[in-house]
Amino acid sequence: MSPEYSCFPQGLTVLKSPALSAYEGMHATVMGLGRFAGGVAAARFLAQHGAVVTVTDVRSADDLADSLAMLSELPVVRFALGGHPEDVLADCQLLVVNPAVRPDHPLVALAKSRQIDVTTEIELFLRHNPASVIAVTGSNGKSTTTAIIHHLLLHANPDFKGKIWLGGNIGISLLDQVQTIQPQDIVVLELSSFQLHLLAPKKCLRPNIAVLTNFSPNHLDWHGSECEYRKAKQAIFNAQSSEDAAIIPDDTNSERDANQGSWRVRGSRLRFGLIDHGDDGAFLECGMLILRSHFFEDAIRFTVPPQLPGQHNQLNIAAAACAAWLAGADSTLFCTALQTFRTLPHRLQLVTEQAGRQFWNDSIATTPESAITALQVFHGRIILLAGGYDKGQDLADFAAEIKSRVAAVVLMGQTASVLFQLLTNEPSELQIRIETDFRDAFRSAVAFSQRGDIVLLSPGCASYGWFQDFRERGDLFSALARDWSPDT
Ligand code: ADP
Repeated sequence: MSPEYSCFPQGLTVLKSPALSAYEGMHATVMGLGRFAGGVAAARFLAQHGAVVTVTDVRSADDLADSLAMLSELPVVRFALGGHPEDVLADCQLLVVNPAVRPDHPLVALAKSRQIDVTTEIELFLRHNPASVIAVTGSNGKSTTTAIIHHLLLHANPDFKGKIWLGGNIGISLLDQVQTIQPQDIVVLELSSFQLHLLAPKKCLRPNIAVLTNFSPNHLDWHGSECEYRKAKQAIFNAQSSEDAAIIPDDTNSERDANQGSWRVRGSRLRFGLIDHGDDGAFLECGMLILRSHFFEDAIRFTVPPQLPGQHNQLNIAAAACAAWLAGADSTLFCTALQTFRTLPHRLQLVTEQAGRQFWNDSIATTPESAITALQVFHGRIILLAGGYDKGQDLADFAAEIKSRVAAVVLMGQTASVLFQLLTNEPSELQIRIETDFRDAFRSAVAFSQRGDIVLLSPGCASYGWFQDFRERGDLFSALARDWSPDT
């Protein structure tokens, strides 16, 4: 059932959008084309609306070949690649910055000193978006939670007449679609701390429902301090009004989530977790999903689908169910709807089962914490592929978790030697091998494996050096796993 109290559909006071004709003849620079949707979408949007567009990126034309191909049909006036020369700001009225660009970048500072409007792709979208917004942020689980909300709204919302859109940091730009989006639609947006930091001083974000999945220190090199990182996350709630709803983790979800009450919230405060303390929110406890808001309560039997294993995914489901329920979706359909949810690629994704082995791709686990989360999901014998680029992170806890949960580990990349030291500083039964090539690492992992084993790629380190990014690493693992048989 849907709650009596709902942020939707009466929710949003639509902020007046500037006319698209305002871009006609405007000189705009897109800084950071990137290899994913954002920069390309911004350049395309601006060029299509008559702006004189310059694109600048530190990468070379070869590195950006795919993105450049997407712009080939457009009248982009100038490309300045392989660096960010100052003259890209000549005549510039609008600078669209990729969220990966550090906030103290000299070109951004120069633009601000010249009173150039500094914006982002997501801000451009929000300036023109007429629909209600559910926004999701957090240190971990953003994409999964965002995708589950989208899935529930699509498949457990039979009376909803509008369209449900998915976008933001999940890797989908909705800027191309902004003229198609209608006021009665719902946009489900993942927002990173970088995007929130850049949106904070602007007035274009107004999420009817804002979700914080969890909070732990991250991206401190970009934000400068934990306090600044937290401020960026707080911006999602600051952008709300008293009619909106904020969904935050229960203090008892984990040690990390303690003190969640300190988030300042303007509207309704709802919690999510695995223990129901009687608060408003969503709680997945003992096979039941309990949803409660303003004296209205739903309790439904709930089986977590096998493609979302682990406690962390139960938390993601609870947070997502709370948001979808508040948005009007029918909770009695949630359990059935979630059975057809497809795990996002590279996020603890069961790729295939071959000869009694399960192959799991968790290539997105580029931090020791996320790899530890993955190791805690499984109870069987684990053969792990770990290691990669050295970001200088402390790998001691990861090594301890490997020692206690893993039968055999194949170490790769720059961090192989550090992990090896940590894993061999005391006697253990762990089987260890170091490889200098990914295909060899895969071969060694399957050589260690036997029927009933989990072969898991959860490296705990970034992929640079061996791969362009975690996607390329995960794709190769998945291809090798699908092609593997005991006779190969
Ligand atoms: P994000 O978008 O925040 O990077 P994802 O949903 O893409 O998060 O998940 C990335 C990885 O983070 C997953 O493979 C899993 O290991 C870990 N993870 C997902 N959800 C959670 C959570 N709620 N708490 C802790 N770790 C999580």
